[in-house]
Amino acid sequence: MVTKKDIRSLNEDQLKEILISNSFKAFRTKQIIHWIWKKSVHGFDEMTNIPSNLIKFLEENFVINNIQIDRMQKSSDGTIKNAIKLFDGHIVECVLIPTKDRITACVSSQVGCSLNCKFCATAKLERMRNLNPDEIYDQVVLIRQQSEEYFDRPLTNIVFMGMGEPLMNYKNVLKSIEKITSKSGLGISQKRIVVSTSGVPKMIKKIADLGVKFKLAVSLHSAINEKRTSIMPFNEKMNLSELQESLNYWYKKTKEIITYEYVVWEGVNDTDADISALVEFCKKIPSKVNLIQYNNIDGENFVQASSHILSKYIKILESNKIKATIRKSRGQDIDAACGQLANKS
Ligand code: SAH
Repeated sequence: MVTKKDIRSLNEDQLKEILISNSFKAFRTKQIIHWIWKKSVHGFDEMTNIPSNLIKFLEENFVINNIQIDRMQKSSDGTIKNAIKLFDGHIVECVLIPTKDRITACVSSQVGCSLNCKFCATAKLERMRNLNPDEIYDQVVLIRQQSEEYFDRPLTNIVFMGMGEPLMNYKNVLKSIEKITSKSGLGISQKRIVVSTSGVPKMIKKIADLGVKFKLAVSLHSAINEKRTSIMPFNEKMNLSELQESLNYWYKKTKEIITYEYVVWEGVNDTDADISALVEFCKKIPSKVNLIQYNNIDGENFVQASSHILSKYIKILESNKIKATIRKSRGQDIDAACGQLANKS
């Protein structure tokens, strides 16, 4: 049996060419594009302005592989976690995070992850495959609907902080962002999108060259090379000086400041030397620090440092004119917080 192609893997020109070579009118392309992206239809028969012979042709030759909700969980703080099923049965998770003035969609970019950060639950899953652009796009569509349905508010922000390493799937991530931001898609501004990376220097330079307008967050967690390697082993191959060089390049090209994500653990990075190293690292490139609360994961003994240590971090960063904030954890009771996405259900 020949497996049918997902129609959303075609770009506009490719679709137009197929339609014309099968004697359909070229203007149908834009109509179909409207239905599959803007309207996110699940079946070709929902395309009410398309003639029946064309619907039949589309049904015979293509599929629309929309994501499906496998399980939805609501946290006592309003956070919603969705386990979503992909066309081939794999499950990934995406999260709606409501706050007073924002509703944020946290989306996944890969099934599992190939990096091995010791403190992250997703890292325990093998990387199975990259998500397609439409599978990333659909997560945003889903959360946008939930935002309207449950909160009666529009979706305001998107963060690539779910499962996977976005820059290890950068082509599909960029294609999804193109659709999320384009008029024929969701029309959301790139400025409202944050891509969070563990720090893949080669890829950071590549996207800087492409002139992207979204924001970059880098999961730093330690500015001391050996220490970072001990908690993020891939750092051995892509070390801090390489990372710094790529971030310098990013800043020169984009003029966008970088956010460093940083968890402070007892006995790991809670000394004065750790703070000084972070200050020095931050001084090199315009940046700010987001201290993330640690969320416990099964089978690891990391312990969040005390609020006294966090206050010390903030005080010293601020006295060096580096902006620092503490990011409160959301959705912990349903394992929806940073680093907890692991398809437990
Ligand atoms: N791979 C990307 C995006 C996914 S993780 C990245 O590394 O940036 C999103 C953020 O959660 C990262 O900063 C990551 O380091 C952090 N994180 C991972 N596990 C965590 C945990 N158990 N508690 C708190 N934050 C965690």
